Amino acid sequence: MLSCKQCAQTFTIAPQDQKILDTFDAPAPKLCRECNLKQRLAFRNERNLFRRTCEKCHKSILALYSKASTAHVYCRECWYNDTWDTTQYGRDYDPARPFFDQMKELTRAVPVFNLWQIGQNENCDYTNAAMNCKDCYFLFSALEDVGCVYCEQMGYSKDCSNCLHVDYGELMYDCVTVNTGYKCAGLLDSDKCTECYLGRDLTDCQNCFGCVNLKHKQYYWYNEPLEKTEYERRLAEALATRESWAAHQQKFTQHAAKYPRRFARKKNTEGTGYELTNSSDIRQCIIVWESQNCGESMDVFNSKDVYRCNHMGWLENTYQVATSVNVTYSLGVFGSEYAAFLNYCYLCFNSENLFGCSGLRKKKFCILNKQYSEEAYKKLRAKIISDMKARGEWGQFFPTQLSLLPYNETMAQRYFPLTKEEARKQGFMWNDETAGLRNKETLPPDKVPNKIPATPDTITKEILRCTSCDNNYRILTQELKILRALHIAVPLECQDCSHKNRLKHYLNPFLRQHQCDCTKRHPQHAATDRCPNTFETIWSHQPEPIFCKTCFEAELGD
Ligand SMILES: [Zn+2]
Ligand SMILES: [Zn+2]
Ligand SMILES: [Zn+2]
Ligand SMILES: [Zn+2]
Ligand SMILES: [Zn+2]
Repeated sequence: MLSCKQCAQTFTIAPQDQKILDTFDAPAPKLCRECNLKQRLAFRNERNLFRRTCEKCHKSILALYSKASTAHVYCRECWYNDTWDTTQYGRDYDPARPFFDQMKELTRAVPVFNLWQIGQNENCDYTNAAMNCKDCYFLFSALEDVGCVYCEQMGYSKDCSNCLHVDYGELMYDCVTVNTGYKCAGLLDSDKCTECYLGRDLTDCQNCFGCVNLKHKQYYWYNEPLEKTEYERRLAEALATRESWAAHQQKFTQHAAKYPRRFARKKNTEGTGYELTNSSDIRQCIIVWESQNCGESMDVFNSKDVYRCNHMGWLENTYQVATSVNVTYSLGVFGSEYAAFLNYCYLCFNSENLFGCSGLRKKKFCILNKQYSEEAYKKLRAKIISDMKARGEWGQFFPTQLSLLPYNETMAQRYFPLTKEEARKQGFMWNDETAGLRNKETLPPDKVPNKIPATPDTITKEILRCTSCDNNYRILTQELKILRALHIAVPLECQDCSHKNRLKHYLNPFLRQHQCDCTKRHPQHAATDRCPNTFETIWSHQPEPIFCKTCFEAELGD
């Protein structure tokens, strides 16, 4: 049993994970799964973008680095230009000083690019961590999406607005964790649904309103069947005004709390964690698909033999790797692509055999951005590893002080929120600037039509004021089109407040032991009041009971 150096929580290492540690000759981690994740997430900013100037061409750009960041920022065109070479920042290794101190100086000196835009993105100005998207705006962490606005964590979706974690969705609004959906609003944790409003855990349902835990149903209203004509009459009534829709949102929250929730979403997967699809041998992971042998990782796809990694795809044999794709046989890597045999590298691309490098492309045998012969590289690498082992650095992720981002702009703040004082004490930067425009509204909230048919197209020209945070916001033409298709009135809350509401229904990385809450004396626990099954689940603060797989499926029926 090991004890976390930060939170004192005890933890163990699975034999499969120990094998991965052994391939790097790395000692046991100093931090528990959660503190280690916090450390890696403190390097990732998805949705806080800022205006600044490219330090090379002086063009005005959007960047994921605010003025509070210590980064030198180039636009992507300048950064990927072959006329400059980051080996110019190369330096000698100083055995008298800790390696991470030298790495910190290097990462602060080498310029970074402004945004993560992978593959071919077309007409996607205000997006970050997007790959092959088209006509999207305010979209983060996205793959192959078209016409999606104000969304996060989307894949293969079209014309969606205000959604979080939707794959294969079309005309979806305000949905969270949905796989395959058409024309739905307010839908949570559901699959293969069409024209459903306000629902949780629905599978293959059509025209259901306010329903929970249903499969293969049509024309259900708060879990009761209705005639088609009556369903349509009630639906028209529910969607008539902003007030009628809001009343149903509230009613649904109370209705849904009475129904059990499944402890984990797993499809065709063996292992522990949440939101696991077509994978095998998964240990305490969150969001994994098409992967094998992954331990304590988050947001992983098409990967194999990984331990404590996050936000990545096509990885093999990696430990402490974050925000990377196509990286193999590597330890301690952030933001790298198409690379192999990297140790402690930051934003390195199409490279192999690099140690402690930042911003290199198409290179091999470099240490601290300095070029060596293969033989000299191997010798110095062995020396640094032995020094790092002696100092307790080898095998750890980059210390938090290496992050170029203020803590409150990173993904770490979402799951491990800190106050400014706490963040400073832990060695993080902080951004005091408050985002958002104020007092510029051209249309006050009480003048925004409460019926979508009565809303003129010119609403997209107006500046509105959020009734929750007072910040100004706009309705995009694309958003209005989606609202019209779903017959929902223009919201009085800004997209940021609406995103915060969705996060309450979204998964988290905290797995806790829980005993099944079922007291229905299903056959397998007929003799006991409460089902004796225990499991690990991310749901601990929800009002509804959490059921084990057997009890949940018994409730669901066919
Ligand atoms: Zn800990
Ligand atoms: Zn530039
Ligand atoms: Zn707001
Ligand atoms: Zn049970
Ligand atoms: Zn039961």
